[in-house]
Amino acid sequence: MNFNPFTEEDLRFLKEVVEEDRVSTGQSNLELHSMDETHHKGFLPDVVVWPKTTEEVSRIVRWANERRIPVVPWGAGTSLEGNPLALHGGIVLDFQQMDRILAIRAEAFQADVQPGVKYQDMNKILSREGLFFAPDPGANATIGGMIGNNASGVRTVKYGGTKDNVLRLEVVLASGEVIRTGTHAHKSSSAYHLAQLFIGSEGTLGIVTEATIRLFGIPEKFSAAIVNFDSIEDASRTVYEIMGSGLGPAALELLDQGTIRVLNEEGHLQLKETPTLFLEFTGASETSLKEDLVRAREICEANGSTAFEPGVGREERNRLWEARHQAYELIKRNNPGLSFMIIDTAVPISHYSEMIHFARDVIQEHKIKGYIFGHAGDGNLHLVVAGPFEDPDFMKRLDRANEAIVFHALSFGGTATGEHGVGLGKRKFMMKEHGESLQVMKRIKNLLDPNGILNPGKIFPPEIGS
Ligand SMILES: Cc1cc2nc3c(=O)[nH]c(=O)nc-3n(C[C@H](O)[C@H](O)[C@H](O)COP(=O)(O)OP(=O)(O)OC[C@H]3O[C@@H](n4cnc5c(N)ncnc54)[C@H](O)[C@@H]3O)c2cc1C
Repeated sequence: MNFNPFTEEDLRFLKEVVEEDRVSTGQSNLELHSMDETHHKGFLPDVVVWPKTTEEVSRIVRWANERRIPVVPWGAGTSLEGNPLALHGGIVLDFQQMDRILAIRAEAFQADVQPGVKYQDMNKILSREGLFFAPDPGANATIGGMIGNNASGVRTVKYGGTKDNVLRLEVVLASGEVIRTGTHAHKSSSAYHLAQLFIGSEGTLGIVTEATIRLFGIPEKFSAAIVNFDSIEDASRTVYEIMGSGLGPAALELLDQGTIRVLNEEGHLQLKETPTLFLEFTGASETSLKEDLVRAREICEANGSTAFEPGVGREERNRLWEARHQAYELIKRNNPGLSFMIIDTAVPISHYSEMIHFARDVIQEHKIKGYIFGHAGDGNLHLVVAGPFEDPDFMKRLDRANEAIVFHALSFGGTATGEHGVGLGKRKFMMKEHGESLQVMKRIKNLLDPNGILNPGKIFPPEIGS
């Protein structure tokens, strides 16, 4: 794609559309919007704009399209694959000031929100109505960014990911046209589900300016257990057995011994340092929750668990989830001076144990320090690798290990990315994962964004074009 340089005339136009203090070419603002939370190198945009209305977004995108200037939407910048980086410069639209909850329809279990709302802040407000939005990536992400990456989290095993919890979207297309797609019904067979097309498209097909999200009642009661194993194989095999037993856990997370050690050291927990499962059930009846735990215990013991600690109280449970959400940050803190990358794949649950086993062997073989954890109930593996990324020999080994692990996941019918999106890092696997359907995706991209101005350089490998 050939883009035009950003000029003084473009800057004047932006300052006409929004107030001057919502447009910045200041170095510190450009730098703040040049990096997400990854190892990928940064890219400076030409300008950062903080829109407040759909009308402003529409006018800016229309202008950028006519002028052939890239536009990249920005939520909280917590992506892990370089997803919101302005690879070709241009305009970053930061949605921080479009952060209102527009309506809560508690009786319909829905809310209308702007894209800059942060889901953790929103859930505090929704909790007053006894409601919550279920997808919960660890970082305090925005709804727009979660839609961009189709984020998910520890609750996805019960409630689904972002795509399962968004009903309707308002989207600004590359032409500047504003569309509203989806309905307020919780199900629909009516024509193409366009809203779903935008979810997970990383801002490459359109810019979300409003979303109707689905809410759930906060479960009254919960039961939780921490389960220890001698080996990660025993722990991961148990995941399959639990999922296959008909028990419907509200969370089922796997953590290897190294990750548990870091949670103890940095998160001030006192867990037994073994491969561990965090298991939780939620519902309305204490009796049935107790029964679920009894059945889960039988399954764990049949698979070699060495300890099963039920009766985790509310406070301890909250601390556990907080530490689990912060696992990546705590690992970083525990390894000063090193750089990090998260390999995020997902496989059918039947292959989860093999996948974990393979990933562990690969990093050992390549002499790479790694921490394995993940949303096990969804077949999602996170492998945080730590090392000297400035060392070319290390990077060669890391590339080989990364490819081996992703290809292995694909060979099981899995995916190169369970929840972090493609961004820059996973582009090279897209052809292998999607085959000829990647060309169909490219045609959709060309149809909706013929000049390729929306978040260029993402998702598609360079040989296919951005
Ligand atoms: C410590 C840590 C833990 C994490 N844990 C998880 C996890 O458990 N699960 C998980 O899924 N992710 C996780 N992530 C990754 C990250 O938080 C998610 O991908 C999140 O959805 C990104 O949201 P954001 O608001 O930061 O978006 P950004 O990073 O700013 O943007 C994400 C993508 O969405 C696009 N975008 C932003 N706003 C819009 C919009 N209005 N319209 C269209 N596109 C838009 C951007 O261009 C970009 O492509 C974690 C990250 C960190 C740092």
